[in-house]
Amino acid sequence: MPYITHIKAREIIDCRGWPTIQVDTYVDRKLAGRADVPQGRSTGTYEAHVLIDGDEKRYQGQGMLKAVANINGPIAEALSGLDVTEQRNIDQTMCALDGTPNKANLGANAILGVSLSAARAGAFCCSVPLYRYINPNARFLPVPLMNILNGGKLTANDLEIQEFIIMPVGAENYAHALQITTEINEALRPMVVEKYGILATNTGDEGGFATPMTGIWEPFEFMQRACERAGYKVGFGEDIVYGLDCAATHFYNKGNNTYELGAKTYDPDGLIELYQEVGKQYPIGSMEDPLDEDDIDGFVKVTQAMPDTQIVGDDLFVTNVERLKMCCPKGAANAMLFKVNQIGSLSEALDAAEFAFRNGYGVQVSERSGETEDALIADLVVALNGGQIKTGMPIRGERTSKHNRLLLIEEELGNVAAYAGHNFRRPV
Ligand code: PEP
Ligand code: MG
Repeated sequence: MPYITHIKAREIIDCRGWPTIQVDTYVDRKLAGRADVPQGRSTGTYEAHVLIDGDEKRYQGQGMLKAVANINGPIAEALSGLDVTEQRNIDQTMCALDGTPNKANLGANAILGVSLSAARAGAFCCSVPLYRYINPNARFLPVPLMNILNGGKLTANDLEIQEFIIMPVGAENYAHALQITTEINEALRPMVVEKYGILATNTGDEGGFATPMTGIWEPFEFMQRACERAGYKVGFGEDIVYGLDCAATHFYNKGNNTYELGAKTYDPDGLIELYQEVGKQYPIGSMEDPLDEDDIDGFVKVTQAMPDTQIVGDDLFVTNVERLKMCCPKGAANAMLFKVNQIGSLSEALDAAEFAFRNGYGVQVSERSGETEDALIADLVVALNGGQIKTGMPIRGERTSKHNRLLLIEEELGNVAAYAGHNFRRPV
């Protein structure tokens, strides 16, 4: 049996220079698996607890030495001698040791790092790639949701909506999807320079241009013209459809139940009408967090009002089966964003995905804005046969690592590989 003999964690830095955690799992005294923990900035209220040091003398309190000590101490002790391939046992042991519903004692960052590193070690011991270890029937390459114009909390501009996205649904395969989106991005660049100057081609956390645009219409006009200039057709059944991560929780005014967007104020119904108007003019294949995370009735309304658009819950669900159980029976959204660190262990994230699939919901695997070069989510999206991934524009190492890993997986799967394409919501 491949027994865990040792676990070693360390503090490393993410793409923004903030501390995060890397964990090594040793089996039979040999290094068998390593994983890094990602971190969000535009986080949902109901995410599991990230344990930070709070000591202002280091990294303005954001250090992770306490979480690292929890791994190297009590977690390593509790897991020593367990079979590394028993993922659920490993995760449950850590959750029991923590003893809180949101991992407030040991930290979700500590537990997740160990959970992912153990999964990698399990795959290593079975001599298979991680995606195949999790699911021997894994075969779908996802449609990448390419975040071409960035706003919200991921940039220093005034664009309220966080992510304006192109989805290359008509590509032949993943490699072709990357080619298409890069060509559209390069068609967009001179358009941005012409209107806003070269500084507007600086990029946000996830690689999209951080321009001075505001509101919703102008970004769509730019995306449309860029697609045309690059020679691609936009529309359902064509090369490209659009996506949004509105991240509306973060431009919601709780005091008077309104949203400020493009110098106008909308109540929830008014905002849904605006989305519908935009949807009449542009094909929106996917829309994430269109309303505040607590507005479950609003999510039901927008799901009904926009039947052609996938409505994704990120802050709404936080990859938590309990949130799904509360929202799915009502018909709030019809897809879940899958972010492993929102819940804090691989088994629980897989449980949430399974619950979503069983209830007819789609599952979109997602990066966090604070990533490292660890490409683990590329394996996860293939393992889930999820059909869709949001992992930023293919620039900078923490984003390219995922895209390049997917290219490798596509090559490795060979003629078994299938690009999800137009069926990204339910690959067939
Ligand atoms: C998101 O909101 O979907 C996102 C990726 O941002 P963050 O990681 O900051 O939550
Ligand atoms: Mg989001």
